[in-house]
Amino acid sequence: MTDAERARPLRIGIGGVHIECSTFTPHTTAYEDFAIRRGTGLLEMFSFTAPGAAGWARDIEWVPLVHARAIPGGSVQRAAYARLRTELLDRLHRAGPLDGVLLDLHGAMHVPGRHDIETDLASAVRDAVGPSCLISSPTDLHGNITEALVARLDLITAHRLAPHEDEWLTRERAARLLARSLREGVRPATAWVRVPVLLPGEKTSTQVEPARGLYAGIAEVEKAPGIWDAAIWVGYAWADEPRSAAAVVVTGTDETAVARQARRLAERYWALRDDFAFVGPTGTAEEVLAAATASARRPFVISDSGDNPTAGGAGDVPYLLERLLLDPAVRARGPRVIYASILDPGAVEACRRAGLGATVDLRVGGLLDPVHGTPADLAGRVTFLSGDGPAPGTAGVPTAVVTSGGVEVILTGGRAAFHRIEDFTRLGLDPRAADIVAVKIGYLEPELRALAADWMIALTPGGVDQDLHRLGHREIVRPLHPFDPGMPPPDLTPHLRPARPAPGGPGAVR
Ligand SMILES: [Zn+2]
Repeated sequence: MTDAERARPLRIGIGGVHIECSTFTPHTTAYEDFAIRRGTGLLEMFSFTAPGAAGWARDIEWVPLVHARAIPGGSVQRAAYARLRTELLDRLHRAGPLDGVLLDLHGAMHVPGRHDIETDLASAVRDAVGPSCLISSPTDLHGNITEALVARLDLITAHRLAPHEDEWLTRERAARLLARSLREGVRPATAWVRVPVLLPGEKTSTQVEPARGLYAGIAEVEKAPGIWDAAIWVGYAWADEPRSAAAVVVTGTDETAVARQARRLAERYWALRDDFAFVGPTGTAEEVLAAATASARRPFVISDSGDNPTAGGAGDVPYLLERLLLDPAVRARGPRVIYASILDPGAVEACRRAGLGATVDLRVGGLLDPVHGTPADLAGRVTFLSGDGPAPGTAGVPTAVVTSGGVEVILTGGRAAFHRIEDFTRLGLDPRAADIVAVKIGYLEPELRALAADWMIALTPGGVDQDLHRLGHREIVRPLHPFDPGMPPPDLTPHLRPARPAPGGPGAVR
């Protein structure tokens, strides 16, 4: 950059498509399932774009493109992906010259018949902005990150916590690295390593070892001179793609140090591969129900993990609910139980027609994902109906509660997550006063973790079955731990992309 160019604000486009897709659920994600933001609504999500920002974020003109984010689900319908991709490219073409793009990705999106779809999107963005514009991507540590994707980007980083309490710090770091790269006039070197290990998130929570120590190593790596950033992806196990595996990327200006540190992190990951274990006690649905009903520790939280919608499950598999309603201890009206939740728009509508206080006799769930469950009988009284206001989770969806014996069953008309106490209390339910709270979730998000006097993970069937061997992956590249026990030690040589000067001036948008 010339001095004159340095004096003007940087122009950075900001947008992305963010979703995690299980390829093992028949559910698909439609365009309407995305929360789509443009203009100031988009910029407001990214607090560092606020006018008058100081420090690294000063003197940057942020150009909002389009940002689409959906709760995890099944594969994104081809037309939905095409529409989002087209709008992103159109807006890039209309944005005028850009110095950089912050491209917000998850890393585990899937579109039927395609592999490594983020690389397709990044390639299209690269073609739109040309080679002189820098692209930086924040991603989820559950992304499956290929060398091809890293090659399309200048910078890539990932969350360092699971649960992702740092997700906005990750986005800020990706933006800060981009600004640094532009101001210093350097595209740093990257070293990428594929680590042939594929584990579920529930074995790789950073709240417990060995992932906690593995990720703590990032801070050590970043202390070395010439290192800008380090990222570790555990990957996403419920995508049957060749790219599905763990990966490491270290970024910096000292190529030798970058390569050395990437190898170090990858070797550490490989050495720990047999130490990863479920973040909590596990059992079959029957085992977990027996433990929960017998426990004196209240509330007892059950993760109905196989159909966790926030990992990509359909959210309508009634496998655990069916067993809960038939459980002799529960039927004897022993414990007070909250079950969250079954996605069933028809059942919610039936409750609405019947009215508050009415008795209903329903068949619920098993429609979006008939592979892992069939509809379950649910007879009871309608004890809550949502109004027109926003309901739980990330989307404002109509909601009903049907109380059957001592069990309060939440039915939703759309995909929704129950991660916070407020998600329950706004339905008139108090999980703190319940004996058992069963939630379609994997590891517990912070408020549920604080709520739980005790908890277990029910290894239920579904699109995000924690028992990976039951799923039948066919596309993954073998050998891969733990699918191939006793596999030979892998080649963990980093693939190095050297540092290069960043071209001066704004990128030419063709
Ligand atoms: Zn994640």
